[in-house]
Amino acid sequence: MSDYSLETKCVQGGYTPGNGEPRQVPIIQSTTFKYATSEDMGKLFDLEAEGYFYTRLQNPTNDYVAKKISELEGGTAAMLTSSGQAANFYAVFNIAGCGDHVVASNSIYGGTYNLFSVTMKKMGVEFTFVDPDCTEEELNAAFRENTKAVFGETIANPALTVLDIEKFAKAAHSHGVPLIVDNTFATPVNCRPIEWGADIVTHSTTKYMDGHGAGVGGCIVDGGKFDWMKHAERFPGLCTPDESYHGITYAEKFGMGGAFITKATAQLMRDLGSIQSPQNAFLLNLGLESLHVRMKRHCENGQAVAEFLNGHDKISYVNYCGLEQDKYHALAQKYLPNGSCGVVSFGVKGGRKAAEAFMKHLKLGAIETHVADARTCCLHPASATHRQMNDEELTACGVYPDLVRYSCGLEDANDLIADLAQALEQI
Ligand SMILES: *Cc1c(COP(=O)(O)O)cnc(C)c1O
Repeated sequence: MSDYSLETKCVQGGYTPGNGEPRQVPIIQSTTFKYATSEDMGKLFDLEAEGYFYTRLQNPTNDYVAKKISELEGGTAAMLTSSGQAANFYAVFNIAGCGDHVVASNSIYGGTYNLFSVTMKKMGVEFTFVDPDCTEEELNAAFRENTKAVFGETIANPALTVLDIEKFAKAAHSHGVPLIVDNTFATPVNCRPIEWGADIVTHSTTKYMDGHGAGVGGCIVDGGKFDWMKHAERFPGLCTPDESYHGITYAEKFGMGGAFITKATAQLMRDLGSIQSPQNAFLLNLGLESLHVRMKRHCENGQAVAEFLNGHDKISYVNYCGLEQDKYHALAQKYLPNGSCGVVSFGVKGGRKAAEAFMKHLKLGAIETHVADARTCCLHPASATHRQMNDEELTACGVYPDLVRYSCGLEDANDLIADLAQALEQI
């Protein structure tokens, strides 16, 4: 597939049927797989042979779909997970455990921020959060002896900041650690972080990849460029024998292209079991087949809505990197030349009350805890995801009390704008 364009990979990547085999990706709805001898089975358990034995670790449907996403991102290996949360947890925990440290952008999804700052902290992993717009000196100052990775989001949810991937990759590599980038909002259609120096890419496939609000899921892709053995003392989990697999050393046996995903499958999936259901993987693949077509429309609608709101006298500010005056416009032109995503955030004059009243009057934009769906949806973070914070705390983290997150779907842009206009008129 590597010779084909991204559009063709969206449609036909990952799965190529043989003679007389199903044209559509088959759903292998089976927990287990049959073998002729115990010896055959033993080879699988020792990672001496490739094959399936239990769906908690691996399933063929999932692997077809993971392979497609790997091809889209330009990776060497990939795995599906049950959610985006699981993908980010596995990606970090695969190389950072108790006593280790990770540098992360502070402009990331709230669920990921919680995972890092509360749950993984309890597990003994420490995080230093940095402003994604910090200088190289400030970024370098965040590293410690025990730093194992750097983490950021291409386009942050919900702040819509754009990550300077090259700046973050340079800092990570100069300290001998990989850069992990959550590419959920941009998708590989609009940005391929591996091409800019990222080592591991994660996704909440729940968003644009599925695109229809049908299935929660996640994915991890390895770019295959990080040389674990060169930094063997920092990554003992990859570079020293795994006693739970008869002394296999992942980085030796599976090389730079395969070690990370093999370890995450063999250890984390085996022990924690956050596997995606093959049914959801099938639905995800249906979404991927039209991802390139849909992203274009999401971006066109995002741009049209941002431009309309930008000129409106009841709107106090608009965040959308496609707008020329946006703080992230220059970075977006570099990393997202074909468009960013369909999510726009803005403030309604009159604060919290006005934002709530405005949303109530929307007819097409439904109030939901979701983004990146075919159907337009919106959320008032101050009364939903960030409800526990008072106005001062909200202002401090950049999620202002009047902020509305509006995710443009695939409807006609004129209908969306008319809906926004009538709702604004009523407040
Ligand atoms: C939604 C989201 C997640 C979490 O994904 P789930 O599939 O909901 O677990 C992680 N990162 C980003 C950027 C997201 O938007």
